[in-house]
Amino acid sequence: MNFFREIIGWYIYHKCYFFIRKKIRILSVYVHNPTPDQLEPYIRWLMKKGYEFIRLDQIRLLLDYESKSRKKYVLLSCDDGWQKNLQLVPLLEKYQIPLLLFVATQPIREGNFWWETVLSGPGSLKERAELLSQFKRYSYERFRTDLEKLKESVSLERSALTSDQLKELAANPLITIGAHTVSHPILPNCPEKVQENEIRQSKEQLEAWLGKKIIAFSYPNSSYNDTTVRLVKEAGFQYAFTAKDTYLKSHQTDPFLIPRFFLNPYGGFYENRARITGSWYWMKRIILTIYHRDRS
Ligand SMILES: [Zn+2]
Repeated sequence: MNFFREIIGWYIYHKCYFFIRKKIRILSVYVHNPTPDQLEPYIRWLMKKGYEFIRLDQIRLLLDYESKSRKKYVLLSCDDGWQKNLQLVPLLEKYQIPLLLFVATQPIREGNFWWETVLSGPGSLKERAELLSQFKRYSYERFRTDLEKLKESVSLERSALTSDQLKELAANPLITIGAHTVSHPILPNCPEKVQENEIRQSKEQLEAWLGKKIIAFSYPNSSYNDTTVRLVKEAGFQYAFTAKDTYLKSHQTDPFLIPRFFLNPYGGFYENRARITGSWYWMKRIILTIYHRDRS
């Protein structure tokens, strides 16, 4: 926890509350790989504030929310398919919290996510972080060849769920599984045919494993372009989620571009309170606007 960020979080949440109090009656929040201890305080806080956690099949409560309503709803989702997500099950059951879990199918089969290979390669932490951001910009061909080369020198312990563990989670009535591509590429960097295969095959593989229809998709790295969105619709999904940090707008949110606020497991309580209610970004945008105006 960063003490300075905590003070900022406390300050902006309280300063913004008057302006955001109506917007935050419907929330969409996501996590990656938190421990139960990291997630529980926010579940308790949202419950104390009167939020009802909803399942994917209740998502119209968010998308068709009546502005006069005083009810509060939150949809919690989780990206990637980490093995550590299994530890969340007792917590979800304790509070009866539904979770929408997006998984990439290749790591389920093979054990790891591509960025783990990049981050485990040679060089300092700073160099590897820089290499990771380069990988996110590489063309599809460069991405594949460089990753294959790196894989030769790196060995990793499994960090992704196995298919049996995924089936166990999917059998829990609180958990809904969504697709997150096959290999978690940066889709706009891929040729259209590759994007199509990544999107369609992840849906087909999950449906084959789980014997259930998969209707929700999450864009890896929140990266997409018009082609990506069209391909997701054509593949038969009904909803797609970004990590765009904006508010849900009832009757206006595009069901293929549903925003989500990120809960930072290493952030402090006030920082995350500001994050999941959007005031963190709201204030950040104002600061950046003033900064750019002063410099132009
Ligand atoms: Zn992801």
